[in-house]
Amino acid sequence: MQKVKLPHSVDPVKSAVKRSDYRGVIASKDMVRLNEAVVSCDEWVNAEVQFEKDAQGLTVFHGHLQTQVTLICQRCNGEFTHDLYSEFCFSPVQGQADDDEGLPEAYEPVEVNDHGEVSLLQIFEDELIISLPIVALHAEKDCAVSKDDMSFGKIDPANERPNPFAVLKELKRDQE
Ligand SMILES: [Zn+2]
Repeated sequence: MQKVKLPHSVDPVKSAVKRSDYRGVIASKDMVRLNEAVVSCDEWVNAEVQFEKDAQGLTVFHGHLQTQVTLICQRCNGEFTHDLYSEFCFSPVQGQADDDEGLPEAYEPVEVNDHGEVSLLQIFEDELIISLPIVALHAEKDCAVSKDDMSFGKIDPANERPNPFAVLKELKRDQE
């Protein structure tokens, strides 16, 4: 099946008027920060996004993202693959994000640029980064270090390195 590449930037208002519905992929190699946060990422990020006007006439675009990344287990240092999945619902705002007052809580504000466009590439990359686990760990049954080893203190959980992007996740939570 041919992979349809999503545009990196779109005008969300025009797209909503046209009720655009994108199903396709974005090349993960264009997501530099995501690549820095993982050992490797699938070549493609699968994305589905629908643009529409809600009952109040607000422009929204919502959908989901999915890809696979390879992470390092903070318990045994082994690599493992992790399915990244994220659902989103954004609403474009003009200017600073303070203008999001009046937006329903379920809508996350995104700023449009001077051309009235939003960068799907950037928004989706941010979305995937904050979907990464705060501490990357194997499922217990797959981990080379068993729970019993842990209880003998061979590995101090305090040494588990938190995901550097965890702070972003916290920031985002505070804003909600
Ligand atoms: Zn492990």
